[in-house]
Amino acid sequence: MHISKNLASCYRDSVFKPTTKRAANPQSPRKAGPTILDGRACREALMPRLSERVKALPTVPTLAIIQVGDRPDSTSFINAKKAFARKLGVNEKHIKASEDVSQSELIDIIGECNRDAAIKGIIVQLPLPVGLDKDAVIEAIDPRKDVDALTAVSVKGWLEGREDAILPATARGIRTLLGHYKIDLFGKRIAVIGRSMLVGKPIAAMCLNENATVSVCHSKTPDLAAELKAADIIIVAAGRPGLVGGKHVRKGQVVIDVGINRPTGEKLDEEIEESGGQKEAPALVGDVDFISAAKKASAITPVPGGVGPMTVFSLFENLIDLCQK
Ligand code: NAD
Repeated sequence: MHISKNLASCYRDSVFKPTTKRAANPQSPRKAGPTILDGRACREALMPRLSERVKALPTVPTLAIIQVGDRPDSTSFINAKKAFARKLGVNEKHIKASEDVSQSELIDIIGECNRDAAIKGIIVQLPLPVGLDKDAVIEAIDPRKDVDALTAVSVKGWLEGREDAILPATARGIRTLLGHYKIDLFGKRIAVIGRSMLVGKPIAAMCLNENATVSVCHSKTPDLAAELKAADIIIVAAGRPGLVGGKHVRKGQVVIDVGINRPTGEKLDEEIEESGGQKEAPALVGDVDFISAAKKASAITPVPGGVGPMTVFSLFENLIDLCQK
């Protein structure tokens, strides 16, 4: 298992520092730490199978990514998708529209992608600038190319848990990651924090469809701590750094941190490495205080390197599924 330099030092220095007593008695069993649910390792392990599926396609598919404006966070998410497309050997077409594009111009761009036979998947990178009707824009995507599973047809499919439905990538990535580490959702009590259409709701639906009992928590939940304590698995997708920490986690719980937050500060070494040595972007943090939560959790995802890599991987699994429909 690969643990980043930073995580490894957290792990060593803060979470599982051996006590003097243990050091004095080398025969005493070491306290086992939580399983680190490593999204990069999981992705690498599953990559050969996905590559084989790509090679078996009759033509190389193209993923169209439509970006309106130039939000730096959107650009960085798009760059991650483009890099993965290159690694997998599929084509990507990054279409940039200006911030002041009109609704009808944007829908025309989507229409062209719908008609282009080489394009098998279409992403409209969200959020869109104020003034554009997100729902109308999403509905303009041909559901057969709806790789993010956001159109009404796709939503009905994943809500119903149909076998042939495309599941939004983050939910699919979490399911795959848990499966990789043999953590079963069947019969488990799950607390999901977040109820957005892109993240929280698809995760909750996925867990329900896997026969878990789900509590969907949000900013108006009266007693969040009680909901979390009652769960076997906590999935946090709120976009609030530090929302969940050790005081919320019960011994033995599984903690999945979906949050991606970019506070000011230095980039992690691992991020610098991944971005080819660019140091200017600040470090990513999740919604979970890793150090305190890891003291109690039986398994936990890091940020970065947990759910994020699995989301990108699952997006391309969705693309290949669409090609084979
Ligand atoms: P959003 O802002 O649309 O939704 C946030 C949700 O969290 C809302 O439902 C809100 O009710 C809830 N929430 C906010 N504050 C809360 C609080 N104090 N207590 C309880 N609930 C609270 O955000 P989103 O698009 O759903 O994204 C959520 C997070 O997931 C963000 O950090 C985003 O960057 C991240 N994200 C990660 C991935 C990934 O691959 N890891 C993919 C997509 C989004």
